[in-house]
Amino acid sequence: MALIVQKYGGTSVADTKRIQNVAERVAKTYDAGNQVVVILSAMSGVTDKLIGMAGSLSDMPDKRELDVLLSTGEQTTAALLAIALKSMNYKAESMLGFQADIQTDCNFGDARIVDIGAHRIKSGLDRGEIIVAAGFQGCDAYGNITTLGRGGSDTSAVAIAAAIEADMCEIYTDVDGIYTADPNVCDKARKINTISCDEMLEMASLGAKVLHKRSVEFALKHKVLVYVRSSFNEEEGTMVVNGENDMERPVVSGITFSKNEARITLKRVPDRPGIAAAVFTPVADADINVDMIIQNTQAGGTTDMTFTVSKDDYKGTLSLEKEIARKIGAEAVLGDENIAKVSIIGVGMKSHSGVASMMFDALAKENINIIMISTSEIRISCVVAEDKAELAVRVLHTAFGLDKTE
Ligand code: ADP
Ligand code: ASP
Ligand code: MG
Repeated sequence: MALIVQKYGGTSVADTKRIQNVAERVAKTYDAGNQVVVILSAMSGVTDKLIGMAGSLSDMPDKRELDVLLSTGEQTTAALLAIALKSMNYKAESMLGFQADIQTDCNFGDARIVDIGAHRIKSGLDRGEIIVAAGFQGCDAYGNITTLGRGGSDTSAVAIAAAIEADMCEIYTDVDGIYTADPNVCDKARKINTISCDEMLEMASLGAKVLHKRSVEFALKHKVLVYVRSSFNEEEGTMVVNGENDMERPVVSGITFSKNEARITLKRVPDRPGIAAAVFTPVADADINVDMIIQNTQAGGTTDMTFTVSKDDYKGTLSLEKEIARKIGAEAVLGDENIAKVSIIGVGMKSHSGVASMMFDALAKENINIIMISTSEIRISCVVAEDKAELAVRVLHTAFGLDKTE
């Protein structure tokens, strides 16, 4: 007997027919003699629809109330699956975030799980129940409902798996596993049988939404075995493993892109000590993450400063920087929302030189202009025009020999 956590994403629970399909899969796992905890997302499109409804009433919906609203998407699917299982004569119990004791901080809309009291889930399991928990939601120390950030149900699943010491956390989604690039963008992408947490963390951080970044952090920290596969077929999926594989790894193992990027430039900033702090401290104080930064020194004691933030933070950062530019005497503030970040990832890069120039060459051959570059030990990212992102992914996929052979 194993203790298995199964998470089903939005497309897997998109309507009652698919929820019935999930109920049958869950029942099969239970009938095989396992204990099962199911974590559900909202039906696909529902979270967006709820955000749209709030947006039609307010430009800046109150974050606490928005979380109360968004959590209803997962409340619906959890209740429906429990209803389906009970009608099939299984003992099942739905649990909302607070009932499953998912304790978070107070950061509405992007809350972090601080602890999970495993007691209630475990005692349900001991009674022979199938536990159906609503993903994406938790509860802060004051009893407020919180949500974990878009795509956060993966994190609910892995965190619960860690808390109850599950043998395996299965993530059921609409693709057969983790691919060398988004298979919906690159039809030559190959399915990866096993991927290290380090590489997956990098891929998730750089735009591969197949797993929520924080779910991989939990898997790494608590050594949870994560298996990503499709809820629509019986194909083998991808195992996310702690530590590196023994296998010979390709230099580049995956390509990602993110369109959730925007660029801001401060022109002709006076070049003196303390200026970077003046430009970036107010941004950090507003809880906005700055990603890439470039500084170009100009003649006449001035410098241009360019940096990227997520598109969600673009407008807020632009107005902050206009205020700062006025105070420090910068000439102008420019912005560009039509950019994307394309990245190549691979632990094999650590011991190989010439990878960056290969990337730049491949993009140049397709006339794709590189706007910004950043590197780490196991990745290289380039900012390009937003409408070139998909092409760049395909070009790099071929250039680094990742295309499937058929
Ligand atoms: P779910 O609703 O099941 O959580 P998501 O839409 O959040 O599903 O994540 C699955 C999607 O992730 C896929 O449909 C695919 O387009 C995208 N994706 C991006 N990069 C990858 C990748 N490297 N491998 C597999 N899927 C990827
Ligand atoms: N329903 C939430 C979202 O759409 C959480 C999730 O699906 O993981 O972001
Ligand atoms: Mg998801």
